[in-house]
Amino acid sequence: MIRYFLMKIEIDKGSGFCFGVVEAIRRAEERLGQDSHLFCLGDIVHNNSEVERLSKKGLETISHEQFFSMRDTTVLLRAHGEPPEIYAYAEANNIKLIDATCPVVLKLQKRILKSYESGTKDDTQLVIYGKKGHAEVNGLVGQTKGSALVVEGIEDLRQLDYSRPIVLYSQTTKGLEGLHHLSEELKSKASEVSIKIHDTICRQVANRIPGIKKFAVRFDLILFVSGKKSSNGKMLFDICSAVNPNSKFISELNEIESEWFHNIESVGICGATSTPKHLLEEVASYLQQMVSGEIV
Ligand code: SF4
Repeated sequence: MIRYFLMKIEIDKGSGFCFGVVEAIRRAEERLGQDSHLFCLGDIVHNNSEVERLSKKGLETISHEQFFSMRDTTVLLRAHGEPPEIYAYAEANNIKLIDATCPVVLKLQKRILKSYESGTKDDTQLVIYGKKGHAEVNGLVGQTKGSALVVEGIEDLRQLDYSRPIVLYSQTTKGLEGLHHLSEELKSKASEVSIKIHDTICRQVANRIPGIKKFAVRFDLILFVSGKKSSNGKMLFDICSAVNPNSKFISELNEIESEWFHNIESVGICGATSTPKHLLEEVASYLQQMVSGEIV
């Protein structure tokens, strides 16, 4: 039986959904207020508990494969955005789209499309710093008819052709530090050609980094709550772990282990831009019950 010394449990005020996710959920709930069922292309947010909450209200997640076999229906597009073929298929098959693409992502898609169209004249290479296969990245690559190269890190820079001009954009949820390192390496490799680097990282994510660093150092233990598929969750967790090695990544309450709380007096609870506030509150109340002996 563990004796708990836990005195302080605090939720990070800066954690919780970003405005893009809040708006996509608002659009889904607005529609579900009029209709009992709605399809969503991919998980509306990388968080199982929120997906389950909305699925009880009638939001059904479909895959891209399923989408391409549908017609005469309504489908919600989440904040990550989609490539042009989704819009073309919807139009040809009488699918009404509720487009909840985040305005920040939409703006980035338009910039990449413009660069792609103007870059064909001088054979420019479009490069996207992001996670291969990530929904937002697929939507960005789609603006270039699949021609943009996706680089995840410095090692991928080997794939570039250094005799052609290079234009680089970033997935909105990447870290500023990673982009900075990549840019420096790119400049040193391609001193002979024109390089344009566009910092298109969303400040909703970037601005959380200094805040989460300050938060994470103040506690004996950090519980970082996020869906396992969230790239932003992974990035923010790595930042927490760097400043506080006693940081634990959890997606659900049942992943909390009582052994973690040996000689622990303070716990900080934080999460990703895709982590709902209510989940952080549930974790805090679970810890309160654990300390008071209601949960063993
Ligand atoms: S992280 Fe930024 S770009 Fe991505 S959905 Fe949220 S607000 Fe939009």
